[in-house]
Amino acid sequence: MIEENENKKIDIRALEKDELFMKIDEIGEKTFRAKQIYSWLWEKGVESFEEMTNLSKPLREKLDEVFYMDKLDVKAKQRSKDGSIKVAFQLSDGRLVEGVLIPSTDRVTACISSQTGCKLGCTFCATGRISDLRNLTIGEIFTQVTMLNKMSEQEYGRKLANLVFMGMGEPLLNYENVVTAINRISSEDGMNFSASRITVSTIGISKFIKKLADDNVRFNLAISLHTANEEKRNRLMPYSLSDGLKNISEAIKYFHAKTGARITYEYILFKDFNDSLQDAKDFASFCKISPCKINIIEYNSVQGSGFEKSNPVKSKAFIDYMKNCNLIVNVRKSKGGDIDAACGQLANK
Ligand code: SF4
Repeated sequence: MIEENENKKIDIRALEKDELFMKIDEIGEKTFRAKQIYSWLWEKGVESFEEMTNLSKPLREKLDEVFYMDKLDVKAKQRSKDGSIKVAFQLSDGRLVEGVLIPSTDRVTACISSQTGCKLGCTFCATGRISDLRNLTIGEIFTQVTMLNKMSEQEYGRKLANLVFMGMGEPLLNYENVVTAINRISSEDGMNFSASRITVSTIGISKFIKKLADDNVRFNLAISLHTANEEKRNRLMPYSLSDGLKNISEAIKYFHAKTGARITYEYILFKDFNDSLQDAKDFASFCKISPCKINIIEYNSVQGSGFEKSNPVKSKAFIDYMKNCNLIVNVRKSKGGDIDAACGQLANK
């Protein structure tokens, strides 16, 4: 899509491949130059035209006159004692978004943001309190990934192994930009990052879950379910009032029928809210809809949310119940809690 900024420059990373080739032709350059530029943008992931070193200086200057590239500046970095690093990126309009690097013994995962805040207002989430909201562009999402990838090599000596769209914002409310950025990240003439190592996590917006199925996406889909009790879910996630569990289960069935893929459910255990045996029974029953995996996540408190982490005895009983139902259950210890980088804590502090 051709998008111009206030200086009448075109966002080069918003262009489809054929649009880029057409524009390069319009400025009097040959097709092989367009191929080189495309490769610099998506394969090598440069952050400026200056870095396109196999192009002549006059051509780089010409590109700079006609196009622009979204730039992200690292405004701050915070290190957790568990090795995670939270990065605050400043966007060209001054807004901030956060990305997180999460190392484990043999791999590094990056948590990516898709919006500068979130309008869905889940009661346990700090991002939902940021009202200064806009969607990140394709270039901003892509550059977040390339910058975190470079940082991962510098900090941990290895490239990113997994990407999770679980940072600030609801990815499916920025559907086109998120899906296009992922296509560039995973395509052979882009970063060539395996789609099976990318997960998009959503609160469960049923119409977009169906759209993902229709678009036959190859990345993984995770749904932040957190409870299979309608009334509790409405309290936790006000959005659910207009798009409840019935809609979500229909969308999940549709997604599975079209893609054959297994859904992952994220379930944060909140003390005395969704951690009883009855909650486990409700959740296990919901899980029968289609093949699934379950990630049980430890809560890191957010000031003023009114929620606390479930206690170990109740958590264990909940997890044991789910396992006894022959469900695939992974228990995720939240990382980066001491730097407000864990699930639901990202908020530009
Ligand atoms: S949990 Fe996700 S959907 Fe809910 S407010 Fe936070 S960012 Fe938005």
